[in-house]
Amino acid sequence: MDNIQMVDVRGQYQKIKPEVNKAVLEVIESGAFINGPAVKSFQTNLEEYLGAKHVIPCANGTDALQIALMALGLEPGDEVIVPAFTYVATAEVIALLRLIPKMVDVDPGTFNVTAEIVEAAITPKTKAIVPVHLFGQSCDMEPIMAVAEKHNLYVVEDNAQAIGADYTFSDGTVKKTGTIGHIGCTSFYPSKNLGAYGDGGAISTNDDELAAKLRMVANHGQVRRYYHDMIGVNSRLDSIQAAILDIKLSHLDAYAQARQQAADFYDKAFGAVENLEIPARQHNSSHVFHQYTLLVKNGRRDKLQEYLREKGVPSMIYYPVPLYEQEAYRGEFSGGIDFLEVTDKLCKEVLSLPVHTEMNEEILQFITKAVLSFFE
Ligand SMILES: *Cc1c(COP(=O)(O)O)cnc(C)c1O
Repeated sequence: MDNIQMVDVRGQYQKIKPEVNKAVLEVIESGAFINGPAVKSFQTNLEEYLGAKHVIPCANGTDALQIALMALGLEPGDEVIVPAFTYVATAEVIALLRLIPKMVDVDPGTFNVTAEIVEAAITPKTKAIVPVHLFGQSCDMEPIMAVAEKHNLYVVEDNAQAIGADYTFSDGTVKKTGTIGHIGCTSFYPSKNLGAYGDGGAISTNDDELAAKLRMVANHGQVRRYYHDMIGVNSRLDSIQAAILDIKLSHLDAYAQARQQAADFYDKAFGAVENLEIPARQHNSSHVFHQYTLLVKNGRRDKLQEYLREKGVPSMIYYPVPLYEQEAYRGEFSGGIDFLEVTDKLCKEVLSLPVHTEMNEEILQFITKAVLSFFE
């Protein structure tokens, strides 16, 4: 078995190569590198796919989050509730804007924040919540939105890992993640479920006023060129990436299915192993498996990872350190939090196995055999 990868971007490209090459060359021939027709087309198609009234493409997922928070007009010192078990970008943009990332714990099964956890962290200074749909499934958004409404808080969804996931409300309404809160943010980093061949990101909202504000922030705080009404940033999705993403968007649901099939295979193989816990499913969300993440019990995680490495099976630890233990986020930049029980435990037990769109039976057999042989 040669060279198993966490993500197979090259294998995926081979299958759409003619379409992609043609689209990229068209952009180059057109000379419309910035805000060209390809960007508009992708924006419209993503709006339709998500069922969002507005999509604002931008340069990357971190920018998407920063622009979202800037558009809300928060004041320095305002608190924004954020999970401590996430990628750093989520908390980083909060701290960067001199807001306080109030770190909270997550559910031990789904790895996501819950309404109860969020509500317990609300203070008079709390202005917003950033739920992260970690590893590809939605947070339980209906009760989170109810808490937000009750306390008059904005909700900015970090949808970088879950684009395409469906959340079902108690009345049967289904919405895509990223369209449930006031603003949704996503990333097109190459390894994400909808990955560009470079950087990219997008912001979504159903609110016309917020959309105008988001567009303005992303474009130097201007509506009319050279007239700047507020301090903004420069964050654009370039036309070549948009053309590529437009093609890949049409395959996104098939890509999710391939990931789900790999996850099902792993579930069957590992469901009965004593020292492994397979990923729990949020009952009212689909799972698009940005990551397939096991819990490895009894302190054996690092040994398993080493064993797999020797056998040629890559694995990753998302995330090895709680954000409040990171050098940059101690003290006030964690909201004064220095320990959260579940986050602490997850950082010691999680192990993500390869899951991508080009998995096949042979690769899956090889990986599961390797994992199972460790526990024999
Ligand atoms: C990838 C990611 C981001 C940041 O996206 P970039 O495009 O790399 O800036 C933010 N939040 C989460 C949860 C992510 O996984």
